[in-house]
Amino acid sequence: MMTRRDSFQAAAAAGLVGAGASAYAQAVRGLPPLKITGVRVILTCPPFPGFQNKAQQRLVVTKVETSEPGLYGVGCATFTFRPESVARAIEDSIRPFVIGKSADNIEDLWGAMNASSLWRSGPVLHNAISGVDMALWDIKGKRAGMPVYQLLGGKMRSAAQCYAHASGRDAKECGDSVQRLMAEGFRHIRIELSNTTVPASAATLTEATRGMATSQMQDGSRYVRETPRLFEYMRKRFGEEIELLHDIHGELHPAECIDMIKRIEPFRPYFIEDPFYPEEIGFMPRLRQATTAPIAIGEKFVNKHEYVGLIKDRLIDFIRVHQSYIGGITRARRLAVLCEWHGVRSAWHGPRDTSPIGHAANLHLDLAIPNFGIQERIVFGETVEEIFPGSPQIRKGMMFGNDKPGLGIDVNEKLAAKFPLPDEPGNFEPKRRREGGVVAN
Ligand SMILES: [Mg+2]
Repeated sequence: MMTRRDSFQAAAAAGLVGAGASAYAQAVRGLPPLKITGVRVILTCPPFPGFQNKAQQRLVVTKVETSEPGLYGVGCATFTFRPESVARAIEDSIRPFVIGKSADNIEDLWGAMNASSLWRSGPVLHNAISGVDMALWDIKGKRAGMPVYQLLGGKMRSAAQCYAHASGRDAKECGDSVQRLMAEGFRHIRIELSNTTVPASAATLTEATRGMATSQMQDGSRYVRETPRLFEYMRKRFGEEIELLHDIHGELHPAECIDMIKRIEPFRPYFIEDPFYPEEIGFMPRLRQATTAPIAIGEKFVNKHEYVGLIKDRLIDFIRVHQSYIGGITRARRLAVLCEWHGVRSAWHGPRDTSPIGHAANLHLDLAIPNFGIQERIVFGETVEEIFPGSPQIRKGMMFGNDKPGLGIDVNEKLAAKFPLPDEPGNFEPKRRREGGVVAN
């Protein structure tokens, strides 16, 4: 048991002296100061059911070890197209920077890690920070004997409602996919036609694109014509009982995008996602003036200057950032508050290139924030769930976590090592438009 004097020394070691000392001593209830002793990076590429493209499931996760034997935390640092770059940033810079520092003061360490490169921001550095940040929240929860959602203020709901993805080569096929998902219990479904993007082949290449490197061709005019008809078909077939979503992936020219959303509006979309890619968000005021359709944006945002203005000016309805790309739970929880004060709901990005640890971090925020909107559904499959025991579970269109302390999830390193990253580089192959330009989504 710690004496009063030990507690004071612990407070002094943590940089909290004077009036803060007794408060600190009380807060840690006699626990010794906790130091970071190690940061391990785990790279793994396990199979996800139904997906062959291994470039998009290269996971980067972290394990932060502490001076208390057996106490560690896990975090997500996944930048699936540059996993080795994130690993190097952690191993060469972040790890030596944080070792020996207090694991208690998460906010302080976030600011210090962010400033530690002087030039900051970007997907590599933010993911590296997130790997440590999420792990520190996990550690704090384990130490407190509480799930992270308790540290964030406690539960506002028991589970997170999810939306699932439906697609098809035509409206009927997509509608059949919607029907199957409704039978599974989903009430929110993203719909899209798969035939507006086609594999590049002699038949699909135009004179403008012949000889250009690409794997996918996008038929923008077909996309703009067919998508409002797809919404009309779903409303006729399923009525008003389901919520329909759509993701543009920033793939259209801004003017044609605004025109298309106006024509989807009468079919009451739940949200339209990523109307523009990040460099084109200057078109948001024009979109807002043109339509009342709810807008979700943000999965490719990294720097707060990309999203703060959109929230402040109430140009969006859902924030859709990817937690690890903006720096982890610490930054996401602040963002959630900013959004709440401006009437914006959450829809954290939740694809398969987020590790189950990242999905768990999404879920803890979903459970605790008043302005939760919706969560993207994920299917992990047996292997992934074995590597990450404690992965969130989907039942009847809802995502459930567990009530274990911390994030409630772990990583089995031995099993993860059985699925190494593929040797070939994991680049994203951009689509091309019929006129030859790269789709810079
Ligand atoms: Mg998206």
